[in-house]
Amino acid sequence: MASTDGPEAPAAVRAKYAETIRALHEVAEGLVPFATDDTDFIYRAQAVLATASDSVWATRLEALANQELEFACPGCDEQLVMGLETSPALVKQFDDASVGVTTVAPSAPGQLTGSEARAYELTTTYRRAQVAKQLLDLFGIFECPACHFTGRTSTAFS
Ligand SMILES: [Zn+2]
Repeated sequence: MASTDGPEAPAAVRAKYAETIRALHEVAEGLVPFATDDTDFIYRAQAVLATASDSVWATRLEALANQELEFACPGCDEQLVMGLETSPALVKQFDDASVGVTTVAPSAPGQLTGSEARAYELTTTYRRAQVAKQLLDLFGIFECPACHFTGRTSTAFS
């Protein structure tokens, strides 16, 4: 239902199977407390987001498990990669290290809305401190090292 390259648009799928998706959402929420480690938790939290709405994070929260997120800069279209191994996270151009590296400005928990707020709430409810910290980077403000476009990470996917 979160797939953007399926036979039907996500919005159409959500409308058509609304009742089933609501039931799946309850199942997804019920499974979060049983996460065995942070990686397991990230995938369970992503399932909660995917069954809730058309959030850009419905398929991308797993970047936290991979410790990196690839995206095209909305300013110059260069392919960028956000590395989440460090805190704060770093952003570099995918195939040209010579442009350098920028540092992400983490989001403040109180500034999060929608699915970002929901994901953060799950990390606090289930005491996933390390995931919570990385979420604030993932949902933060990045600067493109090539063109210096600055914006929230989610703007790269809208
Ligand atoms: Zn750029």
